Amino acid sequence: MQADCTFCQIVSGELPADYVDEDERTVAFMDINPATPGHLLVVSRTHVPDMMSASEEDWLAVAATAQRMARLVIGAYKAGGVDLVQANSDGIAGFQTVFHLHMHVIPRYHDDQLGQWWRQETADPAEVTESARLLVEYARHERAHDREHERPPAWA
Ligand code: AMP
Ligand code: ZN
Repeated sequence: MQADCTFCQIVSGELPADYVDEDERTVAFMDINPATPGHLLVVSRTHVPDMMSASEEDWLAVAATAQRMARLVIGAYKAGGVDLVQANSDGIAGFQTVFHLHMHVIPRYHDDQLGQWWRQETADPAEVTESARLLVEYARHERAHDREHERPPAWA
């Protein structure tokens, strides 16, 4: 628990929220500023800023609850679909505002105002290939670094 964290305060009961689900590792409650009707948040009981710093157990628990809630919101609100959004950021990129692991479960309706919330542009295929090369190269470098320092690799 981090005393000045809004979601820790909700998990502990210090702050009120409209709870809709809870289990051993997660709590789900309505977002006070819904992007669409029925927008809710799934948070870990443990305080961690985001997915990058979460244990695998907490991350998988949040994902499982989000999946359960996604099925429920489609049925309950007769939504056409559901978007899952989860920000991990330096506080500027991605517009994360609460630094306690949470997943947005946002019901989508045929007439909602969200539209497609990202813009895609046609790119030079060479740039796409270069992005792939950079990522694979970075992963190779990380694995070599892990071996050097006898750490378990981030991925095998
Ligand atoms: P993010 O910008 O991804 O960090 O999302 C944080 C979300 O938390 C926003 O959608 C806020 O509307 C929501 N939020 C902030 N405070 C509360 C609160 N006390 N109860 C419910 N939702 C909240
Ligand atoms: Zn917290």
